[in-house]
Amino acid sequence: PPICLIVLGMAGSGKTTLVKKLSSFNYDKLKPYVINLDPACKEVPYPASIDIRDTVNYKEVMKQYKLGPNGGIVTSLNLFCTKFGKVIELIEKAGKAGHKICVLDTPGQIEVFTWSASGTIITEALATAFPTIVVYVMDVVRSTNPTTFMSNMLYACSILYKARLPFIVAMNKIDIEDHNFALEWMTDFEAFQEALEKEQTYVGNLTRTMSLTLDEFYKDLKACGVSAKMGIGYDRFYELVAEGAKEYEEDYKKEYDKLR
Ligand code: GDP
Ligand code: MG
Repeated sequence: PPICLIVLGMAGSGKTTLVKKLSSFNYDKLKPYVINLDPACKEVPYPASIDIRDTVNYKEVMKQYKLGPNGGIVTSLNLFCTKFGKVIELIEKAGKAGHKICVLDTPGQIEVFTWSASGTIITEALATAFPTIVVYVMDVVRSTNPTTFMSNMLYACSILYKARLPFIVAMNKIDIEDHNFALEWMTDFEAFQEALEKEQTYVGNLTRTMSLTLDEFYKDLKACGVSAKMGIGYDRFYELVAEGAKEYEEDYKKEYDKLR
Protein backbone atom coordinates (compact mmCIF):
# COMPACT_ATOMS: atom_id res chain seq x y z
CA PRO A 1 0.00 0.00 0.00
CA PRO A 2 1.17 3.55 -0.66
CA ILE A 3 2.84 5.59 2.08
CA CYS A 4 0.62 8.61 2.84
CA LEU A 5 2.21 11.96 3.65
CA ILE A 6 -0.11 14.47 5.30
CA VAL A 7 1.49 17.85 4.68
CA LEU A 8 0.74 20.35 7.47
CA GLY A 9 2.17 23.73 8.42
CA MET A 10 1.36 27.36 9.11
CA ALA A 11 -0.10 29.45 6.31
CA GLY A 12 2.66 30.45 3.94
CA SER A 13 5.16 27.89 5.24
CA GLY A 14 5.29 26.29 1.79
CA LYS A 15 3.01 23.25 1.90
CA THR A 16 1.64 23.68 -1.61
CA THR A 17 5.09 24.42 -3.01
CA LEU A 18 6.46 21.28 -1.36
CA VAL A 19 3.61 19.15 -2.70
CA LYS A 20 4.19 20.61 -6.14
CA LYS A 21 7.87 19.72 -6.00
CA LEU A 22 7.16 16.21 -4.71
CA SER A 23 4.67 15.66 -7.51
CA SER A 24 7.06 16.88 -10.15
CA PHE A 25 9.71 14.22 -9.85
CA ASN A 26 9.40 10.48 -9.72
CA TYR A 27 12.02 9.91 -7.01
CA ASP A 28 12.97 6.23 -6.79
CA LYS A 29 9.95 5.43 -8.99
CA LEU A 30 7.60 6.28 -6.14
CA LYS A 31 5.02 7.63 -8.59
CA PRO A 32 3.45 10.21 -6.27
CA TYR A 33 -0.34 10.24 -6.16
CA VAL A 34 -1.38 13.74 -5.17
CA ILE A 35 -4.50 14.92 -3.36
CA ASN A 36 -5.55 18.51 -2.73
CA LEU A 37 -7.61 19.04 0.44
CA ASP A 38 -7.57 22.83 0.32
CA PRO A 39 -11.02 23.95 -0.87
CA ALA A 40 -9.95 27.60 -1.06
CA CYS A 41 -6.87 27.13 -3.22
CA LYS A 42 -7.37 29.40 -6.24
CA GLU A 43 -5.14 27.45 -8.52
CA VAL A 44 -3.67 24.07 -7.74
CA PRO A 45 -0.15 24.27 -9.20
CA TYR A 46 0.29 20.49 -9.56
CA PRO A 47 -1.62 17.70 -11.25
CA ALA A 48 -3.94 16.49 -8.46
CA SER A 49 -5.47 13.04 -8.87
CA ILE A 50 -8.12 14.00 -6.35
CA ASP A 51 -9.11 17.62 -5.79
CA ILE A 52 -11.56 18.61 -3.06
CA ARG A 53 -12.66 21.48 -5.32
CA ASP A 54 -14.17 18.99 -7.75
CA THR A 55 -16.55 17.87 -5.00
CA VAL A 56 -17.27 21.02 -3.01
CA ASN A 57 -17.40 24.62 -4.12
CA TYR A 58 -16.42 26.59 -1.07
CA LYS A 59 -17.85 29.88 -2.34
CA GLU A 60 -21.21 28.15 -2.79
CA VAL A 61 -20.92 26.61 0.67
CA MET A 62 -20.33 30.10 2.12
CA LYS A 63 -23.43 31.42 0.39
CA GLN A 64 -25.65 28.46 1.16
CA TYR A 65 -24.79 28.26 4.85
CA LYS A 66 -24.22 32.03 5.25
CA LEU A 67 -20.63 31.59 6.40
CA GLY A 68 -17.45 33.66 6.29
CA PRO A 69 -14.33 32.37 4.53
CA ASN A 70 -13.09 30.30 7.49
CA GLY A 71 -16.46 28.73 8.17
CA GLY A 72 -16.75 28.00 4.47
CA ILE A 73 -13.43 26.17 4.42
CA VAL A 74 -14.17 24.16 7.57
CA THR A 75 -17.66 23.21 6.32
CA SER A 76 -16.31 22.24 2.89
CA LEU A 77 -13.79 19.94 4.54
CA ASN A 78 -16.58 18.46 6.68
CA LEU A 79 -18.70 17.80 3.59
CA PHE A 80 -15.77 16.23 1.78
CA CYS A 81 -14.87 14.14 4.79
CA THR A 82 -18.23 12.33 4.60
CA LYS A 83 -17.00 10.90 1.29
CA PHE A 84 -13.56 9.99 2.47
CA GLY A 85 -14.28 6.27 2.26
CA LYS A 86 -14.29 6.73 -1.50
CA VAL A 87 -10.92 8.50 -1.31
CA ILE A 88 -9.45 5.56 0.63
CA GLU A 89 -10.69 3.23 -2.12
CA LEU A 90 -9.08 5.40 -4.78
CA ILE A 91 -5.75 5.44 -2.91
CA GLU A 92 -5.91 1.65 -2.61
CA LYS A 93 -6.49 1.43 -6.35
CA ALA A 94 -3.62 3.82 -6.98
CA GLY A 95 -1.41 1.54 -4.90
CA LYS A 96 -2.27 -1.38 -7.15
CA ALA A 97 -1.41 0.78 -10.15
CA GLY A 98 2.11 1.30 -8.83
CA HIS A 99 1.84 4.52 -6.82
CA LYS A 100 4.08 3.99 -3.81
CA ILE A 101 3.47 7.34 -2.23
CA CYS A 102 0.41 9.52 -1.72
CA VAL A 103 0.85 13.20 -0.85
CA LEU A 104 -1.98 15.23 0.69
CA ASP A 105 -1.94 19.02 0.62
CA THR A 106 -4.04 20.65 3.38
CA PRO A 107 -5.78 24.03 3.81
CA GLY A 108 -3.59 27.13 4.17
CA GLN A 109 -4.64 27.78 7.76
CA ILE A 110 -3.28 24.88 9.77
CA GLU A 111 -5.99 24.81 12.46
CA VAL A 112 -8.65 24.05 9.86
CA PHE A 113 -7.14 20.60 9.66
CA THR A 114 -5.52 20.08 13.06
CA TRP A 115 -8.39 21.36 15.21
CA SER A 116 -11.40 20.14 13.30
CA ALA A 117 -13.36 16.93 13.50
CA SER A 118 -12.85 16.32 9.79
CA GLY A 119 -9.06 16.63 10.06
CA THR A 120 -9.08 13.99 12.78
CA ILE A 121 -11.41 11.72 10.81
CA ILE A 122 -9.29 12.01 7.67
CA THR A 123 -6.05 11.37 9.59
CA GLU A 124 -7.50 8.31 11.29
CA ALA A 125 -9.00 6.95 8.09
CA LEU A 126 -5.63 7.22 6.34
CA ALA A 127 -3.61 5.84 9.24
CA THR A 128 -5.94 2.87 9.61
CA ALA A 129 -5.57 1.94 5.96
CA PHE A 130 -1.99 2.96 5.06
CA PRO A 131 1.43 3.70 6.53
CA THR A 132 0.90 7.39 7.27
CA ILE A 133 3.39 10.11 8.15
CA VAL A 134 2.85 13.72 9.17
CA VAL A 135 5.10 16.17 7.35
CA TYR A 136 5.23 19.43 9.27
CA VAL A 137 6.50 22.24 7.07
CA MET A 138 8.25 24.96 9.03
CA ASP A 139 9.36 28.27 7.60
CA VAL A 140 12.97 28.62 8.83
CA VAL A 141 13.15 32.24 7.76
CA ARG A 142 10.40 33.06 10.24
CA SER A 143 11.84 30.88 12.99
CA THR A 144 15.21 32.50 13.61
CA ASN A 145 13.89 34.13 16.78
CA PRO A 146 14.14 31.55 19.59
CA THR A 147 10.71 32.34 21.02
CA THR A 148 9.04 32.08 17.62
CA PHE A 149 10.97 28.91 16.97
CA MET A 150 9.66 27.41 20.15
CA SER A 151 6.06 28.44 19.53
CA ASN A 152 6.30 26.68 16.20
CA MET A 153 7.76 23.59 17.88
CA LEU A 154 5.03 23.59 20.52
CA TYR A 155 2.47 23.58 17.76
CA ALA A 156 4.27 20.66 16.14
CA CYS A 157 4.30 18.95 19.52
CA SER A 158 0.54 19.30 19.91
CA ILE A 159 0.01 17.75 16.48
CA LEU A 160 2.37 14.88 17.19
CA TYR A 161 0.61 13.92 20.40
CA LYS A 162 -2.80 14.27 18.84
CA ALA A 163 -2.05 12.32 15.66
CA ARG A 164 0.32 9.70 17.14
CA LEU A 165 2.08 9.17 13.82
CA PRO A 166 5.66 9.32 12.57
CA PHE A 167 6.59 12.95 12.22
CA ILE A 168 8.96 14.77 9.88
CA VAL A 169 9.77 18.44 10.33
CA ALA A 170 10.63 19.85 6.90
CA MET A 171 12.52 23.04 7.62
CA ASN A 172 11.69 24.96 4.50
CA LYS A 173 13.18 27.86 2.55
CA ILE A 174 16.82 26.96 3.17
CA ASP A 175 17.62 28.75 -0.08
CA ILE A 176 17.12 31.93 1.98
CA GLU A 177 18.18 30.87 5.49
CA ASP A 178 20.33 27.93 6.52
CA HIS A 179 18.51 25.61 8.93
CA ASN A 180 21.53 24.45 10.93
CA PHE A 181 20.77 26.89 13.74
CA ALA A 182 17.41 25.16 14.19
CA LEU A 183 18.93 21.68 14.18
CA GLU A 184 21.45 22.88 16.74
CA TRP A 185 18.71 24.27 18.98
CA MET A 186 16.99 20.90 18.86
CA THR A 187 20.05 18.87 19.73
CA ASP A 188 22.09 21.19 21.92
CA PHE A 189 20.07 22.48 24.84
CA GLU A 190 22.75 24.94 25.88
CA ALA A 191 22.93 26.53 22.46
CA PHE A 192 19.21 27.21 22.66
CA GLN A 193 19.54 28.63 26.20
CA GLU A 194 22.29 30.89 24.97
CA ALA A 195 20.06 32.22 22.20
CA LEU A 196 17.38 32.85 24.80
CA GLU A 197 19.73 34.73 27.11
CA LYS A 198 19.42 37.63 24.75
CA GLU A 199 15.70 37.81 25.51
CA GLN A 200 15.31 38.95 29.08
CA THR A 201 11.55 38.98 29.01
CA TYR A 202 8.73 37.14 30.68
CA VAL A 203 8.27 35.13 27.52
CA GLY A 204 11.98 34.40 27.60
CA ASN A 205 11.65 32.87 31.07
CA LEU A 206 8.61 30.88 30.09
CA THR A 207 10.43 29.65 27.02
CA ARG A 208 13.38 28.55 29.13
CA THR A 209 11.16 26.40 31.31
CA MET A 210 9.23 24.94 28.41
CA SER A 211 12.31 24.17 26.38
CA LEU A 212 13.32 21.67 29.05
CA THR A 213 10.11 19.80 28.36
CA LEU A 214 10.52 20.02 24.62
CA ASP A 215 13.81 18.16 24.80
CA GLU A 216 11.87 14.93 25.33
CA PHE A 217 9.67 15.69 22.35
CA TYR A 218 12.59 16.40 20.00
CA LYS A 219 13.69 12.78 20.38
CA ASP A 220 10.52 11.69 18.56
CA LEU A 221 11.12 14.02 15.64
CA LYS A 222 12.87 13.63 12.35
CA ALA A 223 14.03 16.89 10.87
CA CYS A 224 15.65 17.96 7.65
CA GLY A 225 16.18 21.13 5.69
CA VAL A 226 14.56 21.62 2.31
CA SER A 227 13.89 24.25 -0.21
CA ALA A 228 10.49 23.33 -1.55
CA LYS A 229 10.90 25.93 -4.22
CA MET A 230 14.39 25.09 -5.46
CA GLY A 231 14.17 21.35 -4.90
CA ILE A 232 17.01 21.15 -2.38
CA GLY A 233 17.23 18.53 0.40
CA TYR A 234 14.91 15.91 -1.02
CA ASP A 235 17.36 12.99 -0.73
CA ARG A 236 17.43 13.34 3.03
CA PHE A 237 13.70 14.00 3.07
CA TYR A 238 12.97 10.71 1.35
CA GLU A 239 15.34 8.87 3.69
CA LEU A 240 13.25 10.17 6.58
CA VAL A 241 10.06 9.10 4.79
CA ALA A 242 11.45 5.56 4.53
CA GLU A 243 12.38 5.62 8.23
CA GLY A 244 8.93 6.96 9.10
CA ALA A 245 7.19 4.22 7.15
CA LYS A 246 9.22 1.62 9.04
CA GLU A 247 8.38 3.27 12.35
CA TYR A 248 4.71 3.24 11.42
CA GLU A 249 4.80 -0.53 10.90
CA GLU A 250 6.76 -1.17 14.09
CA ASP A 251 5.26 1.29 16.56
CA TYR A 252 2.13 3.03 15.40
CA LYS A 253 0.19 0.58 13.29
CA LYS A 254 -1.09 -1.48 16.21
CA GLU A 255 -2.79 1.58 17.71
CA TYR A 256 -4.68 2.20 14.49
CA ASP A 257 -5.50 -1.47 14.02
CA LYS A 258 -7.71 -1.10 17.09
CA LEU A 259 -9.81 1.47 15.22
CA ARG A 260 -10.57 -0.88 12.38
P1 GDP B 1 1.22 27.21 1.93
O1 GDP B 1 0.27 28.26 2.40
O2 GDP B 1 1.84 26.51 3.10
O3 GDP B 1 0.64 26.26 0.94
O4 GDP B 1 2.45 27.98 1.23
P2 GDP B 1 2.82 28.14 -0.32
O5 GDP B 1 3.35 26.87 -0.87
O6 GDP B 1 1.67 28.75 -1.03
O7 GDP B 1 4.03 29.15 -0.23
C1 GDP B 1 3.95 30.42 0.38
C2 GDP B 1 5.02 31.35 -0.19
O8 GDP B 1 6.31 30.88 0.17
C3 GDP B 1 4.98 31.41 -1.71
O9 GDP B 1 5.22 32.75 -2.07
C4 GDP B 1 6.12 30.51 -2.12
O10 GDP B 1 6.68 30.88 -3.34
C5 GDP B 1 7.11 30.72 -0.99
N1 GDP B 1 7.99 29.54 -0.82
C6 GDP B 1 7.61 28.25 -0.63
N2 GDP B 1 8.69 27.44 -0.53
C7 GDP B 1 9.77 28.22 -0.66
C8 GDP B 1 11.19 27.98 -0.64
O11 GDP B 1 11.68 26.86 -0.51
N3 GDP B 1 11.99 29.06 -0.79
C9 GDP B 1 11.51 30.32 -0.95
N4 GDP B 1 12.39 31.31 -1.09
N5 GDP B 1 10.19 30.58 -0.98
C10 GDP B 1 9.33 29.57 -0.83
MG1 MG C 1 -1.32 25.94 0.23
